[in-house]
Amino acid sequence: MRKAPEKEKIIEKKKSLSTRSIHAAEPRRRYADSITTPIVQTSTFTFENSQRIEDYTKKGKEHFEYGRYSNPTTKIAEGRLADLEGAEAGIVFSSGMSAITTTILALVQAGDHIVFTDDSYKKTLEFCNSFLKKFGIDCTIVPFGDYDALEGVIKKNTRFIFSESPTNPYLNIFDLVKLKKIAAKHGILTLIDSTFSTPVNQRPIEFGIDLVLQSATKYLAGHNDILAGAVLGRKELIDEIRTLHKMVGGIMDPHCCYLLLRGLKTFPLRVQRQNESTLTIARFLENHPRVKQVYYPFLESHPHYQIAKEQMAGGGGVVSFEIKGNLTDAKRFLDSLELCFIGPSLGGVETLITHPAMVSYYDYTKKERLQLGISDTLFRLAVGIEDVNDIIADLEQGLRTKG
Ligand SMILES: *Cc1c(COP(=O)(O)O)cnc(C)c1O
Repeated sequence: MRKAPEKEKIIEKKKSLSTRSIHAAEPRRRYADSITTPIVQTSTFTFENSQRIEDYTKKGKEHFEYGRYSNPTTKIAEGRLADLEGAEAGIVFSSGMSAITTTILALVQAGDHIVFTDDSYKKTLEFCNSFLKKFGIDCTIVPFGDYDALEGVIKKNTRFIFSESPTNPYLNIFDLVKLKKIAAKHGILTLIDSTFSTPVNQRPIEFGIDLVLQSATKYLAGHNDILAGAVLGRKELIDEIRTLHKMVGGIMDPHCCYLLLRGLKTFPLRVQRQNESTLTIARFLENHPRVKQVYYPFLESHPHYQIAKEQMAGGGGVVSFEIKGNLTDAKRFLDSLELCFIGPSLGGVETLITHPAMVSYYDYTKKERLQLGISDTLFRLAVGIEDVNDIIADLEQGLRTKG
């Protein structure tokens, strides 16, 4: 946490998440008494005189030096995200993937072994399984939810376990208590990509998870207008990652940080709305005669319903479903939608629908896709904050459209 400058008050941790999303980690008194956060659009910072330089370099007095190292706007965004996750510290990055790759690179060295679950974000798996191998880092991918297999692959040189919860597109839920138990027994770090849950619905740090990764592009920024990422955790680990971040330089620029901070002000409101709308839509789909299967963690029919209810405050804004029929039916449904936009990503104010077989897995053969459970009629709906009745009406007319 940012240290409060003299006579300046900072909103304390005991306030609720909604309040902290607007005020945390920022001095009450701002530049020129503005109500909004100043965008300090500068690449470099100046020193008044040689004394100031020495106070900074020798006595460790706080001073900004250069934009790749830190920036006042960025610092507030980092403090706010850390506060919301209940973490000691955090770093923001130019994208979620920048956060993930920089974090992993900072933690490993040649000869290390790392463990992933197979349901992880495709680019994360690609990075570890193909790219990191080049540097002598051994990566094992275990089936999601198989805790015995997970424990079974741990070796002396295992550095960490990385997973996600919920996952894409089946919204599988990882039991964080079990994960922590296994990791603690073997003395290894735990990393959770919590993009799909956000701190409104789940705070992995409270379960003892060491590092939380976020694609802030999604719910946190929430307006489908920026790319952003973050890692949050204990100060000692964050400092280690920051050392590399300063070298690889995937920084989030101050203007972008401002947009993130602006998005964060409405973040709990948006996610609460998305939780409610998505559960309503999931129930509507489950009762629809043209729908074969619905995947949503807060539906009783989801295999991880129990653990989701224990671990999460809400099911989130993503629901996946399979319609009856074949690829032609799937295309017809997609083409008939008038409100929902066709596109990847999630967590924004606009409702988006994606067809994994045609988008994320277009380069797989049908057999490969089916092995991963990606059928021709599977859709992922990322619910926005439009009126839920309008979204349902659009899905209804889409499902009724006949060829
Ligand atoms: C989008 C996403 C990422 C990557 O984030 P970017 O901001 O697009 O780089 C990583 N993990 C999950 C779960 C995501 O949904």
